[in-house]
Amino acid sequence: MEDIRKVLEQTCAYAVQYVESCKDMPAFPSEKALAGVESLRGPMPEEPCDPCEVVDLLGKYAQPATAGNLGGHYYGFVSGSLLPAAHAAQWFIDTWNQNSCLYTGSPAAAVLEDIAEKWVAELFGFPEGTAMGLATGSSNCILIALIAARNELIRRQGWDVFKQGYKNAPSIRIVLGAGAHGAVRAALYYLGIGEEELEFVPIDEYGRMIPEKVPPLDDHTLLILQAGNVCGGAYDPLEKLIAKANKAGAWVHVDGAFGLWAAVSPNQAHYVKGIGNADSCNMDVHKTLNGGYDSSIVLCRDRRALRSAMEVGGSYLQFSEHRDNMGYVTEMSRRPRGVVLWAALKQLGKKGLADMIDNLCDCTSYFAEKMVEAGFVMTVPPFFNQFFVKCDTEEHTKAVLAKVQASTKAWSGSAMWDGEFVMRFSICSYKTTHQDIDESVAVYKAALDEVCGK
Ligand SMILES: *Cc1c(COP(=O)(O)O)cnc(C)c1O
Repeated sequence: MEDIRKVLEQTCAYAVQYVESCKDMPAFPSEKALAGVESLRGPMPEEPCDPCEVVDLLGKYAQPATAGNLGGHYYGFVSGSLLPAAHAAQWFIDTWNQNSCLYTGSPAAAVLEDIAEKWVAELFGFPEGTAMGLATGSSNCILIALIAARNELIRRQGWDVFKQGYKNAPSIRIVLGAGAHGAVRAALYYLGIGEEELEFVPIDEYGRMIPEKVPPLDDHTLLILQAGNVCGGAYDPLEKLIAKANKAGAWVHVDGAFGLWAAVSPNQAHYVKGIGNADSCNMDVHKTLNGGYDSSIVLCRDRRALRSAMEVGGSYLQFSEHRDNMGYVTEMSRRPRGVVLWAALKQLGKKGLADMIDNLCDCTSYFAEKMVEAGFVMTVPPFFNQFFVKCDTEEHTKAVLAKVQASTKAWSGSAMWDGEFVMRFSICSYKTTHQDIDESVAVYKAALDEVCGK
C-alpha cells in the first residue's frame, strides 16, 4: 500500500513552490524547460512505478514546462489565473473524487451547485428560477444552449424533437454576427447546421454587429449575440438587440465567455446592459473569474427548455427531489465543478468580484496607453480586458512578437484583424499589476527598438 500522506505532501510542496514563485515565473517555458518535458517520452513502462517517483517527474519535468498564466506577465488567449479559494476547492474535489451527476452521487456537489445557480442568476440579472448548467468550457456551454434554443423554437411550432427528430422538423432561422467566435460556428456545425443556412449580420470596424443590418426577427429565429470579441473585446449592442428579439418572440443567446463578467461591476455593467432579458448565455469560470479550468456556465431563463433538451433516461439512474447536476448539461459523470465556482464566488463576494473586474479593466487601459506611448499602433480602442496593437509593417509586428515570446518575460499571442497581423492582449490574471505592465511594456519596447533599429 502506498504511503498516501507522503505522496500528497510531496505534491503539496511542489504546488506551494509553484504558486509562491508565480509572481516572477517565466511567462513561457525556457528551451531547457521544454526539453525537460520532452524527456518524459518513451515506451509505456512494463513495470509499476512508485507514485512518489511519478510526483517527482511531474514536479521536475512537467511543472517547469507550463505557461505562466498564474502570474502577472501572461496576456495570451483569455487565460485566467487561479483564486486561492478556487485552488483549494480544486484540491478538495480531487480528493473527494465525487461523481457529481446525481444528488445521490454527491450531495455536497449538488447543494453547492444549487447555491451557485442562484448566485449566478442574480449576478447577471436573470430572474428567479433560471437554470444553470456547468460544463467544461464555453464551447460546450454554447452547444448546450443552442440545443435548448433549437428544440424550443421547434417545439413552439408543434414539433417534438425528442420523439420526431430533426430531419423533417419545421425550420428555424439562425442570425449571428460576422464576428461570432469560432466556438459558436463549431456548435452550429455540430448541430448539423451548415454555413449557407446562417444569416450573418455585418460588423463595424470594432467587430460589433451593426444593429440596422439585423434582418427582421420572428418567433422561429435564434439570434446569437456576442459580449466581448475575442480580439478587441468589443460588444454587440446587446440592449437594443435583446429587446428586438424579445419583441419578435425570437430566442436570443449571448456568448459572453469572458466579457459577460462586466455585468458584476457597476463600473463596467454598461457594456452588457439588458443581459438579464436574454434567453440564454454562457460565460467561463476559467477566464475572467479566475476560477480555474475546466469550468463554464450556461444560464437558461426557461428551466424546462434546458431540462428537456438535456433529457437522459436509464433505469439505474436514481433521480431525486434535489438538484441532479446531469440534468442541465451533456455530461453524466464529471467533476463537481460547482464546488469550485461556489468557492470562487464565496471568496470574492459581490464587492471583491466587482473590484477584481475593475482592476482588470484598469490594467487594460493602462497597458494600451503605455504601448501607444512606446510606439505601437492601435487602431481599435481597448474594450473591457482586451486590446491589440501592431507595428508599422507586418514584418516588424511578427519580428517583435517573436522576440518577446522568446524572451519568456512576457507572453501575448497574435490574430488577424481586418486582414492584418496584430499582437493581441488579454489582461485576465487578477495578479497583474501596473508594475507588471510597466515591466512588460519595457520588454515590448526593447524588442521594437531592436527590430526597427532605434
Ligand atoms: C474563449 C471563448 C469561447 C470558447 O470558450 P472555451 O471555454 O475555451 O471553450 C467562446 N466564445 C468566446 C467569445 C470566447 O472568448
